[in-house]
Amino acid sequence: MKIAVIGLGAMGTPMAENLLKSGDHSLRIFDLDREKVKSLEEKGAEGFATAAEAAETADIILTSLPNDAILKSVLSGENGVIQTCSAGSVIVDLSSVSPATAIEMAGEAKAKEVGYLDSPVSGGVAGAVAGTLTIMAGGEETDFSKALPVLEIIGKKINRIGGVGSGDAVKIVNNLLLGCHMAALSEALKLGESCGLTKEKMFEIIRESSGASYVLNAKMEKFIIPAAFDGGFAVDLQKKDLNLALDTAKQAGMSLEITEKARDLFADASEAGLGAKDMSVVTTLKK
Ligand code: NAD
Repeated sequence: MKIAVIGLGAMGTPMAENLLKSGDHSLRIFDLDREKVKSLEEKGAEGFATAAEAAETADIILTSLPNDAILKSVLSGENGVIQTCSAGSVIVDLSSVSPATAIEMAGEAKAKEVGYLDSPVSGGVAGAVAGTLTIMAGGEETDFSKALPVLEIIGKKINRIGGVGSGDAVKIVNNLLLGCHMAALSEALKLGESCGLTKEKMFEIIRESSGASYVLNAKMEKFIIPAAFDGGFAVDLQKKDLNLALDTAKQAGMSLEITEKARDLFADASEAGLGAKDMSVVTTLKK
């Protein structure tokens, strides 16, 4: 199959590398950053001057882009991917964006007889490198079947959740929990330290107790105890995901008070210049 990959960042590049390594597919690539295109060209991919050209004859078009506005600018409009790609091809958006954007983009794609799956991923850069991402897809069964052989190269646990938008919905629910759990852990550690407990002792006891969580297990030994916050899942991405949850709730006429407080914590970290650090850096903030 011919596969286009648009967006060759921390996630897109290792996914493209795994597709190349599989040897089963030819790869058409685009990123605004020419250096990223060049390094994959050296490994056998074909670079193009625009996203629309990369998508033109592809069977499956993968996008891994920073946010809703950029995704829309790449897919939509006169010079967008949807205008140029072939009828019968399937756009698989691997970015974390809102369900509303997925539904809008899928509608435009359908008008051109192009399939669409919102397929956000979980597992981070390490999962992208290892080809073990969890993929949560929303869209029609026929489009999912067409994309599955490609998704099986980049991911391990691949689920079709339901119709378009359901993949992004489950992703933002997951990341709402991730962000709120992190904010709660940060508050809990501060309380414990004010009582004279060390982080090491709290981790030793709580990891075996009812207060344990994914963030406790994933973040304490690796980032929080050594106070080393490079790599991992960036504060700015977590802030973006909590904002997606808040925007989606607003559209549904709901307010999410705990999520709002957690978002403010990540916004504070971002303003303090810590936006690229692992999300657990919020444990170092004063408040
Ligand atoms: P990134 O910032 O590393 O990469 C984004 C890439 O998109 C960059 O290479 C950038 O040059 C490119 N780009 C920006 N605008 C473009 C345009 N108009 N046309 C073409 N390319 C353009 O981001 P990432 O960490 O790879 O994340 C990508 C998506 O995956 C995001 O939606 C993110 O929320 C999601 N995600 C990231 C992780 C993670 O751990 N990094 C985990 C799960 C999901």
